[in-house]
Amino acid sequence: MKPFEPDLVYYEPGALDYPLGKELVARFQSMKIPVRPTTSHNQVTGLPGETPLDKYRIAKRTLVIGVKKSLKFEQSKPSAEYAIPLATGCMGHCHYCYLQTTLGKRPYIRIYVNLDEIFSQAEKYIQERAPEITRFEAACTSDPVGIEHISGSLYKTIEFMGKQPLGRLRFVTKYANVESLLNADHKGHTRFRFSINADYVVKHFEPGTSPLPDRIEAAGKVAEAGYPLGFIIAPIMSFSGWKEQYQALLKKLSNRLPEVDDLTFELITHRYTQSAKRVIEERYPKTKLDMDDEKRRKKWGPYGRIKYVYPKEQMDEIKDFMHRTISTYFPRAEILYFT
Ligand code: SF4
Repeated sequence: MKPFEPDLVYYEPGALDYPLGKELVARFQSMKIPVRPTTSHNQVTGLPGETPLDKYRIAKRTLVIGVKKSLKFEQSKPSAEYAIPLATGCMGHCHYCYLQTTLGKRPYIRIYVNLDEIFSQAEKYIQERAPEITRFEAACTSDPVGIEHISGSLYKTIEFMGKQPLGRLRFVTKYANVESLLNADHKGHTRFRFSINADYVVKHFEPGTSPLPDRIEAAGKVAEAGYPLGFIIAPIMSFSGWKEQYQALLKKLSNRLPEVDDLTFELITHRYTQSAKRVIEERYPKTKLDMDDEKRRKKWGPYGRIKYVYPKEQMDEIKDFMHRTISTYFPRAEILYFT
């Protein structure tokens, strides 16, 4: 799979005050990709496209180079204390992606170039919590590995966190271009997680991401580079043949991975809200995603939002099967949660 390059680039003039901003603007200009100034990375106006769907597709191929001015990090409970803001948006087209609703009208890819300021802020948060460990999640609003060949930010963040006795980093990816990260001096402070799924799910619902065998191969290399490793299997879906396919997935994974001491799994079943369903049906009108309300149980989430989850018996069956299969192939792995 060819690494992503944008069709269109915007930059905030202030980004040119930072080495990464200057470098990126010069690089895209030399590649003859249209590069335009924008007053704010929060509100890029004039994106091309006739229809909302065109605009969405073009935005997903548009890069915005900006400066993160508000350095108040969002919380990222329960698996980390803070979200570290390196980028937002993603060029992938996963039909079920939560960014569809969370990024709203800003689906473009945004890279922040003031990394030193972001790291200073992270250090402050670490000091505030000392002697407790402080964990930072880098994939709350983007897939940082997918754009690493452009920004190089993740490598710097991994090395920064390697120097923090009380700082930890975690992120998740569906991209396999991990080569540039294998030599980073991580000191075991970064948990490198891959999002994986049954062939059926990858094939029908994850266009624009790395093929599954590439992700598995990348995970093997990351394990060999000594990173603490993790897998998120999400969304787990119930479809004809799901048990065979999830078992085959775990078997393939165990064949490729070396013996690792520190391995985690996070398991999330498929769910949706009505607002997500509306957006998905607009943007991926031919999707085969099963969002039949009649076959779901309603579950109240925060802010009064209703999530449509699988009925209890089906959830129990999935949970039991996934736990048993993971412990067969990875007896020493820790399953952090099933939801
Ligand atoms: Fe969303 Fe991740 Fe897919 Fe990107 S790779 S579209 S962030 S689910």
